[in-house]
Amino acid sequence: MTEINEVAIDRILNPTSIDLGEYVINPYMGCEYSCMYCYVKSNKAVYKKKKPWGTYVNVRMNAPDLLKKEIEMTRPKTVLLGSTTECFQPVEHTYQITKKIIEILHNNNVSYVILTRSPYILEYLPLLKQGFCSKIYFTTNNFNNDLKQLLEPESPSFAERNNAIITLLEEGLTVIPYFSPVVPWITDLKNVFCSFTKAKCIEFEFLNFNLKDIHEIVNHLLKIEPSLKKRFDDMLNDKEFYGQMWGNIERDIEAHAVLWKKEFKIYKHDFGKFFENSYS
Ligand code: SF4
Repeated sequence: MTEINEVAIDRILNPTSIDLGEYVINPYMGCEYSCMYCYVKSNKAVYKKKKPWGTYVNVRMNAPDLLKKEIEMTRPKTVLLGSTTECFQPVEHTYQITKKIIEILHNNNVSYVILTRSPYILEYLPLLKQGFCSKIYFTTNNFNNDLKQLLEPESPSFAERNNAIITLLEEGLTVIPYFSPVVPWITDLKNVFCSFTKAKCIEFEFLNFNLKDIHEIVNHLLKIEPSLKKRFDDMLNDKEFYGQMWGNIERDIEAHAVLWKKEFKIYKHDFGKFFENSYS
């Protein structure tokens, strides 16, 4: 059961180095979906809390009021919603902080990009179609159900997410299906491009083998495919093998993209580069 805390914060618009907006806005701290590979878990502020990720959500009750004031002062043109939380997680049903924030952005002519994996975003379709939502990155995947239960048991099903992506695209919104994490030897790349015929571009993020929890993640992967033990060991320890393996997957993605005449982008992680998230 997730602990829900109503909190007040000092600031809601935070400058960012992510090139998707001048500022990030996170209506909540914490996330009910609790994905094991979530990069926010490596955020120093989260680590200091010493509460397991996924067990709490802080609802930033004063975020809408703060936003009205901060917009007056900073006059942003573009913002990114949901860099370290899921804006449309179940708690949004009760508090609607994200909804209030979107309404304030509209009233001030601020355009925004959304990162999400929640089909609950469809509830806000009329709002999103008012012209200020410039892009939605919608994370999905195609693990089998056993693996999904191990890696992200609380998140919405991939079928629900894929249907939401298709609906948003049909409604004319710019949606990037964001396929993450791509796991070598497990991810099925064959059916990705044909699933989203209306999407202009599909993006991929490779599994980050530098995450703090990577050994736990690999142990879960091995529960599904025990025969991959040697290969995962090599991914963790052999730089040359790591480079070759991801190179093969990159070429595979490119071949499918050419076949389906789609644009694509891949986010990779360097071998052995310790990952520390400093996004707020
Ligand atoms: S939905 Fe996003 S923020 Fe929430 S746990 Fe998963 S990866 Fe992290």
